Amino acid sequence: MSGKSDIKLIENGVRLDGRKPDELRPIKMEIGILKNAQGSAYVEWGKNKAIAGVYGPRVMHPKRLSNPTESTVRVTYNMAPFSVEDRKRPGPDRRSVEISKISSEALSKVIETHLYPDTSIDVFIEILQADAGTRCVGLTAASLALADAGVPMRDLVVACAAGKAGGEVILDLFKDEDNFGEADLPMAIAPRTGEVVLLQMDGQMTNEEFEKGFDLAYNGCLKVYEMMKQALLAKEVQQ
Ligand code: UDP
Repeated sequence: MSGKSDIKLIENGVRLDGRKPDELRPIKMEIGILKNAQGSAYVEWGKNKAIAGVYGPRVMHPKRLSNPTESTVRVTYNMAPFSVEDRKRPGPDRRSVEISKISSEALSKVIETHLYPDTSIDVFIEILQADAGTRCVGLTAASLALADAGVPMRDLVVACAAGKAGGEVILDLFKDEDNFGEADLPMAIAPRTGEVVLLQMDGQMTNEEFEKGFDLAYNGCLKVYEMMKQALLAKEVQQ
């Protein structure tokens, strides 16, 4: 069968979008973009566009779900119907429930939840445009929004994916590489401690490729971390 799957994803070390194997897509971050949320951020990452808004800590509703020893971090990840080529059916699905769950777990690792028993910290991630890697973009936006809201955190959460496409281990896959490549390896870290707070993989890689992918994603996270710090500083200067 001929078609898009026959395309060469990487040729002479250059990817379809012109990047080198270890290059990130262009990234833009803006903080405090929503008037009504306690904290918010907008992240453009290649063709991905994501907004995150944060409320809390606030009294947990419904009350029966509250935890008397700590705050509960609830993330809602949503992809807008117009965010992808084929209109996405509005509302939650298995994928969004999974991404919400792993994002809650990653953020819970850095938030000082013990300071706010019986409360919830609600994080909403809206993907306005998707081009692969949206869980990483969403988590990065959420982490910035939490910082903007002044929620006490031991560290920021930074996310970035690596993977394998066209037979090579590469950083930050875009849609065609994700669709027609061999593997995707999204990761999130807390950079100050070096703790890995999210690691997923789908597809196949050898041990050696996995280790290379892990290092690439980790170093990608560190680059994104620098941008996050700059964006937060720029917001502070503005105020
Ligand atoms: N995607 C899509 N329709 C969907 C779900 C995903 O077109 O219902 C696309 C979208 O561009 C997304 C990509 O597939 O970014 C990869 O999705 P995946 O589940 O791997 O998550 P992501 O890489 O976005 O974290």
